[in-house]
Amino acid sequence: VDVEVVAHTGSTNADLLARALDLARPTLLVALHQSAGRGRAGRSWLSAADASLTFSLAWKFSGSPQRLLGLPLALGVALAEAVAAQGVPVRLKWPNDVLKDGAKLAGILIETRRATDGGTWAVIGIGLNLLMPEEMEQRIGRAVATAPWLARMERDVLMAALLSTLAIAIEQFEAAGFGAFRERWNRLHAWRGQQVDIIDAGTVLQQGVALGVDDSGRLLLDTVDGRVAVLSGDVSLRLT
Ligand code: ATP
Repeated sequence: VDVEVVAHTGSTNADLLARALDLARPTLLVALHQSAGRGRAGRSWLSAADASLTFSLAWKFSGSPQRLLGLPLALGVALAEAVAAQGVPVRLKWPNDVLKDGAKLAGILIETRRATDGGTWAVIGIGLNLLMPEEMEQRIGRAVATAPWLARMERDVLMAALLSTLAIAIEQFEAAGFGAFRERWNRLHAWRGQQVDIIDAGTVLQQGVALGVDDSGRLLLDTVDGRVAVLSGDVSLRLT
């Protein structure tokens, strides 16, 4: 993996996505400060220098983007396990938010570019809150989690630990798909057995009890009409 570190940028995902088709090797781009971090569906991810770890990893997969539907969940598992290995207990909120004490500690955004040889470059963006300045929490406007314990670690050591866990997970995913992660995801499921709403652009599409994920990473819901499997797409999940 080529490693690049920049003092400041808008979005590491935007930067790597723009260059993805010209990359020769998997590339890690770490920004000490990121000012226009992105979430899913045009939402933003806020971070502050010294308070957050923000980076993106570009990796070339074989086949079409369709094959990568379960990748965000697989990497959620890897990120949660890596953080847990440092002594910080976390859970997963479907599809791939890492929660600590019920609030969001880290987010993952995966964007893809189709390569000319039929493969797909995935740019995997991760934002992890280490500390949270009061002013930033107010701007986010909801409960957020931090990991002061990780904030005390050397950033390079933390980054190396995360990178090696992510690389192993990516290789497992390439070899066996999401199937290899399903049980691990379900063990970390934060809202198992809870009543949830599936929301799309402010509208509740579905309601039910969250059971866990299936072999392709869809959320299984027990609804009044029976069991349904929800594709992540751009929908959001809320406790009812
Ligand atoms: P939601 O969390 O609303 O269900 P999502 O899981 O799709 O949506 P993402 O796209 O992963 O959310 O992240 C963007 C959202 O995360 C923002 O809309 C904001 O509410 C929240 N957010 C932004 N910055 C941070 C941060 N540093 N820590 C925790 N949450 C943040």
